[in-house]
Amino acid sequence: MATIKTIGILTSGGDAPGMNAAIRAVTRAARYNGWGVKGIMRGYKGLITNEIEEFYSNSVSNIIQRGGTILKTARCKEFMTEEGRTLAYNNMRAAGIDALVVIGGDGTITGAKVFAEQFDIPIVALPGTIDNDLSGTDTTIGYDTALNTIVEAVDKLRDTASSHERLFFVEVMGRHAGYLALNGAIASGAEAAIIPESATGDDQLKTLIDNGFRKSKNSAIVLVAEDPATGGAMGLAERVKNEYPQYDARVTILGHIQRGGSPTAADRILASRLGAAAVEALKEGQRNVMVGLKNGELVYTPFCQALSKTKSIKQSNVELVKMLSI
Ligand code: ATP
Repeated sequence: MATIKTIGILTSGGDAPGMNAAIRAVTRAARYNGWGVKGIMRGYKGLITNEIEEFYSNSVSNIIQRGGTILKTARCKEFMTEEGRTLAYNNMRAAGIDALVVIGGDGTITGAKVFAEQFDIPIVALPGTIDNDLSGTDTTIGYDTALNTIVEAVDKLRDTASSHERLFFVEVMGRHAGYLALNGAIASGAEAAIIPESATGDDQLKTLIDNGFRKSKNSAIVLVAEDPATGGAMGLAERVKNEYPQYDARVTILGHIQRGGSPTAADRILASRLGAAAVEALKEGQRNVMVGLKNGELVYTPFCQALSKTKSIKQSNVELVKMLSI
């Protein structure tokens, strides 16, 4: 195995609060170990367009508290082609980069896996996505901040919902993962969560209405994952209008507001630990693994495993929402 002298770092896919804390940790830990660091702009796109900068310790000063990513991020179709990845590899080698740390969601890790299969490069990935949909880690970087943003928004909506006695559908992110909706519902005291994981064979709206939401109150807040199968909050509100016209349903879509803002302490600590662990992993000769935190311990999960296993939600939490909303 060739010795590593310089690593490259990039953020890719959707931005997530805490990515900057991770960039800082990777840069500082690498410098601490005497390695050079190159910051790659705009994810895989920057490897192809050769937007690669030298990163020093002070390149990452004063960013731990900032949302977004100073490296910018992008979605890059060209990297999905062999030619695109060849260009990326040639630029990477010309910049003297021996190994990569990539920060992003499942798409980013899929890209890293494909890249490492085509070329012999050590890559370590950090889970950076608000959806928390990656197995191999209890939580992903950005998830806790997004959850807190949702709770803050729902607390505000509650005032209007109860004053007007309405049924509010609040749509949160997570096309295939109900983590934000379910735990957002628990944390905000919402009456229900409608999530993709519970969709199989169950009409969650019908169950909710049939069971009667919060019998002691005339208003309800339901957190809804942006699932195309239900049509999200808009789809559900439309159904209420047609099928249950006795209810006054309203929709709030939180959208990109969930990605923004200063990362919580939990996300900063997670990102700092994982960032330093990524450098440690490369030092140990690990390659093509995602670094995560499970039960407080750092764990390495091979890319194929991190991608193939679906992270199931806790069924007991689904029951908890039901139990606490009577
Ligand atoms: P989020 O969870 O926030 O959506 P993500 O990392 O899953 O983040 P994607 O847009 O799915 O975001 O993926 C990011 C990038 O990873 C893509 O734009 C592409 O450049 C690369 N990528 C994804 N899948 C592949 C693949 N099969 N082959 C090569 N590259 C890929």
